[in-house]
Amino acid sequence: MIVLKNVTKRYKIKHKSDCVAVNNVSLTLPDKGMVFIIGKSGSGKSTLLNLLGGLDRCSSGEIVVDGNVLSKLSSRSLTKYRSSYVGFIFQDYHVLDNFTVKENVELALDIASSENEERVNKVLNQVDLSMYADRYPSELSGGQKQRIAIARAMVKDSKAILCDEPTGNLDNKTSSQILNILKKISLEKLVVIVSHNMVDANNYADRIIELYDGQIVRDRRRSDNYNNEFRIENDVVYLPHYRDLSSNELIILNEEIEKNDNLTFKQVDNRFYPTVESNQEMNNVQLSSSRMSRKTISKLFKIFFRHKKVGIAISVFLVSLLVVCFAIFQSFLNFNSNKELSKILNKYDINCIPLQKGTFNEDHNIALGSLYKVTDEDIQAFYDNGYKGNVYKKYNNTFIFASSSSNKVDNESAISVSRIFSMFYATETLGVINCSKEYLVSLYGVDGELNMLAGSLEGKDYGVVIPDYLADSLIFYKNKELKYDDIIGEYYNGSYKQGYINGVFDTDYEEKYDEIIKMYEDAFNDVDLGNLYDELIDNELYNDFLANALTYLGYGYSIADNYKDTLINKDFRNYIGISGIRFEIDDEKNYFTSATCIFMDDDLFNKAYPSYTKYVGDLKENEIVLGLSFYNQMFGTSYTSISEFTPCDVVVSFYENYNSNNLICEKQYKIVGVIPGNTKGIIEVDDNFDLYQYDVIEYGMILDNQDNISAVSMVADERGFLINSVDATKMGTINRVLEVFDDFFLFIELFFLLIMFIFLINIGISSIKKNKYDIGVLRAIGASGRDIMRIFIRQSIIVCLSICIVANIGIFLGEYVANFILISAFEKILEVSLHDLVLISYIPKIVIKDLFYIVIISFLSFVIPQMLLFKIKPIDIIRAKE
Ligand code: ADP
Ligand code: MG
Repeated sequence: MIVLKNVTKRYKIKHKSDCVAVNNVSLTLPDKGMVFIIGKSGSGKSTLLNLLGGLDRCSSGEIVVDGNVLSKLSSRSLTKYRSSYVGFIFQDYHVLDNFTVKENVELALDIASSENEERVNKVLNQVDLSMYADRYPSELSGGQKQRIAIARAMVKDSKAILCDEPTGNLDNKTSSQILNILKKISLEKLVVIVSHNMVDANNYADRIIELYDGQIVRDRRRSDNYNNEFRIENDVVYLPHYRDLSSNELIILNEEIEKNDNLTFKQVDNRFYPTVESNQEMNNVQLSSSRMSRKTISKLFKIFFRHKKVGIAISVFLVSLLVVCFAIFQSFLNFNSNKELSKILNKYDINCIPLQKGTFNEDHNIALGSLYKVTDEDIQAFYDNGYKGNVYKKYNNTFIFASSSSNKVDNESAISVSRIFSMFYATETLGVINCSKEYLVSLYGVDGELNMLAGSLEGKDYGVVIPDYLADSLIFYKNKELKYDDIIGEYYNGSYKQGYINGVFDTDYEEKYDEIIKMYEDAFNDVDLGNLYDELIDNELYNDFLANALTYLGYGYSIADNYKDTLINKDFRNYIGISGIRFEIDDEKNYFTSATCIFMDDDLFNKAYPSYTKYVGDLKENEIVLGLSFYNQMFGTSYTSISEFTPCDVVVSFYENYNSNNLICEKQYKIVGVIPGNTKGIIEVDDNFDLYQYDVIEYGMILDNQDNISAVSMVADERGFLINSVDATKMGTINRVLEVFDDFFLFIELFFLLIMFIFLINIGISSIKKNKYDIGVLRAIGASGRDIMRIFIRQSIIVCLSICIVANIGIFLGEYVANFILISAFEKILEVSLHDLVLISYIPKIVIKDLFYIVIISFLSFVIPQMLLFKIKPIDIIRAKE
């Protein structure tokens, strides 16, 4: 039972006084029967029906439906009410065009309770639509469509069916079909029909309520004892009011006419009496609700997004592209130059860097002509920026055991060591001497035997044996825990000639130099190594040690059988120094062994001295270049500048095992150039820069941790240090570029997010807008907002997942492209080769962060359109089409 008490509905109209569509209506509707609400257009019929159907809320008064006060129901309960209690039939049918007849009906049932195929078939039968079950509404006539609507209303077994001008668009014949079906339904439930057709009302209504200007002006009921049966009583034939006689009745009538001449005919009157409200008990009905089945959601999902696949795909692609750019951009900002630098340093196994100050020339190599003095201020800058540790000075006149540059050009992972401590430990040896076993025994043997501390003289090809002195040095830098045995078989990365360590032999150097070694070792802890030289220079032992070490100790020895041939056949043009041989100066004592023994093959040489290739390439056969200090020692000169040098010839004698009795061969060489300093690299001969004007040209720092590396890489570039590695400088530049970005990164990030958001929200909004009508109808027939939301959640999940997948693939691929592009760009800007640099790497942290953003944004761009969803009032949709 439905009771209306003083129900009023006002519409606010802009700039005008309110329109009172329903005005103080009080009314009780029974549980069954057919009630017509009649009135001319604009009299408030639809408004009243919509109020009854829970599509709209009244402005004042209340509607009580089986104990439920509609105005007090939450919108969720009101939805339940629409889905389970009432069925709607509209003038415009409002069936869903993308669903078949059967599906339309199933949908209604699904919304109200649960799907039940039998019930659907039964109802389709009742409205005579079984044979059209699988057709789409667009393939049907108006009457058939309206029958779908009826079936839809019937199928859910609602208590009332509300019809707004159900026959308004139909011809007479179809109209009466529809009304007959409704009449039948009204035997069991309440059917309210809004109409302006008084004839239909008279024919079918059990009750007629007439509205005028929103008020009830007449409310009549067909009399209870009104008999509309065809009957013949006392010679009177009663003809029923609203229908033709059936064939049976016609037969009876004919028979009667034949036998009875006195018959009179009487049309049964269409009698209505004023309705008298009776006070009836009201049932209490609980409103039930159900969720849409998954199947229906899927179906709706498919239909909603049927035509939008391409659009969504494009949007997904564009958003993914944005995410890729975003992630790559972030990765770029995340580029850790320190990490990268330390990686590069590690690669070359450098944990200690020498610092030089100057600029690079066009060939991107250090031009000695532009070396600058390192000031105290410079050094302070390292400390100010967080460097913790010593800055070691390497005096120009410090005796260097090993060459101080150009090592470690080989990328092989091999034992190699750092250089600043080369003041003591011959960290890079002077090279590898090709010699025979006898030679070694003559130098270090006891009772004609070498004392092997580990390994043996023979072993792997390309093997070398090294003195304990060198082994200690290697171990010192590699890992102090190592034993001699551990380094046997290791690849020994000595200057310019490498080999596998076959053995370590005893030289007793520790006993000999015990005192001085202790001093050095202490110095590692607290003394400035740069000053150590001053302290030690007067020590006799030190000089003895230096002399010895310089001559022998730093070498590895290659006991190759063919060493003689090697010496004889070698073309030394591309070799800067020569080892294992002596430069004979005069008959007496004066011979020198090259301090650098640069045995380089062309490749190695090019890597080590890229800018000098040209020069060295110009050397003719038997032309060589020597270090300036070496030259001075050799010829007793005291040149301070390479410009003082003039080319000269020299005969080089090759002796077996340094033994002047065993001459192997003699070769004539022309010294065409000298290089400054000791043996540290070569430069063009015509470069007249005087290297000796500074006491200190190199500094060394130990980069044993990230902080130190970062401090140095930061300052080095800023203050023009050439930290002997172009990498450090380029890192600094890249870092500065990044810093610029960093400042407005937040804005870029927000901008990216905003664009993503706009794209996604656009997908959301447009799909809701496009399906607005269907959503309105679904809501009108009782689909809950939650159910509709589920459809869009599905969409948003699919969009979100697709973006995640596409974007991830994109990032993965884009990383290579971006690296390539960025590195090419930086190479152009920095004018250096950066081929081994990784600017952008797939960083899980960033990817996860971005996915998180995608999810948040998808969520937002889904939630916001949902607000729109809830703004779609079924009543508006229903009205819009009327
Ligand atoms: P009927 O169905 O009897 O033709 P309605 O119930 O549709 O009449 O309308 C009743 C009155 O309320 C009309 O004057 C109509 O203009 C007005 N009305 C209906 N809906 C609205 C609305 N959404 N906003 C303003 N006025 C409305
Ligand atoms: Mg109307």
